[in-house]
Amino acid sequence: MLGAASSKVPRWFGPDRQPLQGGYAAGSDRNLWPAEGQQGVTWHVSTDQPLVALTFDDGPGPNYTPLVLDTLDKYDAPATFFMVGERLAEHHKLVEGRLGRHEVGNHTWSHADLSEQDFDGVTRQLKRTHDAIVTYTGRVPRLLRPPWGHLGGSTLLAANALGYDVVLWSYQMHEKRYAQNPQAQISDIVTKSRPGEIILAHDYGDQQRLVALGHLGPMIEGLRARGMKLVTVSELLAAGRVRPPKGP
Ligand SMILES: [Zn+2]
Repeated sequence: MLGAASSKVPRWFGPDRQPLQGGYAAGSDRNLWPAEGQQGVTWHVSTDQPLVALTFDDGPGPNYTPLVLDTLDKYDAPATFFMVGERLAEHHKLVEGRLGRHEVGNHTWSHADLSEQDFDGVTRQLKRTHDAIVTYTGRVPRLLRPPWGHLGGSTLLAANALGYDVVLWSYQMHEKRYAQNPQAQISDIVTKSRPGEIILAHDYGDQQRLVALGHLGPMIEGLRARGMKLVTVSELLAAGRVRPPKGP
């Protein structure tokens, strides 16, 4: 216990913080060494193909997930949903039978800041969500997006142990900036997205989300008019992978 001494302890030693020593990097605790010694972290995919991936975090939720699914259905567009486990457990009926061409990723059980958690804490967050996704969607998720993009060594090790790739993002909706100007939000996404872009949106949150979510149709139309094809994140990753050199 830190007790009375806690006032003299730097705040990053607090009970909800990672200690600076204690096994959260691969070299610190041999018991945590995973089978493989490298872990993929992707925020943009290098590719010459005109592919972009739309991603939606934090759902499912009753306010916006049905709207997003309806719009994606209308345009026959695939997307990747990074789901919060406890919200999926509560709202799984919203996505039942509706995930056809979409991909489902892990966004932790309780939208936790994984950078503050140790290996066991991260593992619990991921595993519980993983099991919920398998149970409620029938999918086996292979992608982790840590909330806020916060991650530490413990996140990389836990993701590796569970067979996940870590996926961040390279562009995003700016709901605050364009709160009064949805046309500018549409134009921003349509004109600035590059091949290999991983675009962040949220299908959960306050009403401001509608600046983006209420105008997905024109964004999809605009991207397609530029020759862009929407794909899931896994499809984008596969398109960007460097092929091994041919042997002699
Ligand atoms: Zn999130």
